[in-house]
Amino acid sequence: MPDLALNHSRLLNALQACGARSGRAVRLLAVSKTQTAARVAECAALGQRAFGENYVQEAVPKITALHALDLEWHLIGPLQSNKCQTAARHFDWIQSIDREKIIKALDRHRPDSLPPLNVLIQVNIDAEPGKSGCMPTEIKALALHVAACRKLRLRGLMAIPDPATSGNGMAFARMQQLFSQLRENHPATDTLSMGMSDDFPAAIAHGANLVRIGSALFGPRPTSR
Ligand SMILES: *Cc1c(COP(=O)(O)O)cnc(C)c1O
Repeated sequence: MPDLALNHSRLLNALQACGARSGRAVRLLAVSKTQTAARVAECAALGQRAFGENYVQEAVPKITALHALDLEWHLIGPLQSNKCQTAARHFDWIQSIDREKIIKALDRHRPDSLPPLNVLIQVNIDAEPGKSGCMPTEIKALALHVAACRKLRLRGLMAIPDPATSGNGMAFARMQQLFSQLRENHPATDTLSMGMSDDFPAAIAHGANLVRIGSALFGPRPTSR
């Protein structure tokens, strides 16, 4: 079993060092897909608050089991419209908004008893076929749709660049520019989610302030997901 405490403190130090170079605080999102609720609790005991999950069905039992820990849960995987009701009731953030239908369904299903749902617009920045995310030209209209929803709060952008080329930083640099354009019309947006275990330094150098890290924290996953 990898040493979670050691990995966590090393990552926090690395994020602080990278962030200091670009004058920004960087938050760690612990990607807990395939990890048990017990392992998440172990990580939470180290002071980690924010956790990311890819699948609604996998996440809900963990979120429910760990309710008393008052963690912050982010959905980072693609969202089907038939899962919006469950997602809107359990998550604090949805990072994978890429079409109007999902925006409407989340707004409709977010319970009034909960604070507004934080959302990020996911951009398919390398225009990869079959990958979720909107095209850069669609951001403006989607942002207006979110802004018009009472129970959603637009926080920024998310991207998963092609890992084969993400290290060169070009996709991250394009995202940085798109984020600054978004902020011209939506000045309250504050989050640029990009960077994973293998490419987070390049992402932070280009403005990421929320990095999504799984394997460098919990150890390698059994499958490629
Ligand atoms: C799995 C996943 C991550 C974490 O990947 P690692 O390489 O294990 O750090 C980050 N973001 C998304 C969207 C993921 O699906």
